[in-house]
Amino acid sequence: MYIDLIFCDELQKRFKAPGDFAVAYVIAHEVGHHVQKLLGIHDQLMSLHSRLGERDFNKYLVRFELQADYFAGVWAHYVKRMNLLEEGDLEEAFNAASAVGDDRIQKSTRGYVVPDSFTHGTSEQRKGWFDKGFRSGNMKEGDTFSARNL
Ligand SMILES: [Zn+2]
Repeated sequence: MYIDLIFCDELQKRFKAPGDFAVAYVIAHEVGHHVQKLLGIHDQLMSLHSRLGERDFNKYLVRFELQADYFAGVWAHYVKRMNLLEEGDLEEAFNAASAVGDDRIQKSTRGYVVPDSFTHGTSEQRKGWFDKGFRSGNMKEGDTFSARNL
């Protein structure tokens, strides 16, 4: 796995999401993508890419990204179970998940929001799916593709 260390720096300064657990959330999200690869979910998503237009594909991409957030939450659930969660850690992760929401990023960079172009989900969705994974600790409850009213 490759982690862009510049992004870790940006997370703190530009996105105002400091803390070791903010970075841990990002790493866990990326590991989540690796799990999706192992489960064949990534390949399924890619097979849609050639068949769908960008706008429709983005809807699946958002669900794919939110699933990685969910898996990151599942990981955090076990960190807590092992008594390794320090005070403020969870808040750092929630803050980071919100900070990298498409709506928030678009608003700060373009000044307006274009939902059809979302690729990762809103701040609310990212934080929400991380939280769901954290509360449940069960990988099987992370089917963001079947979830209604995302
Ligand atoms: Zn991702």
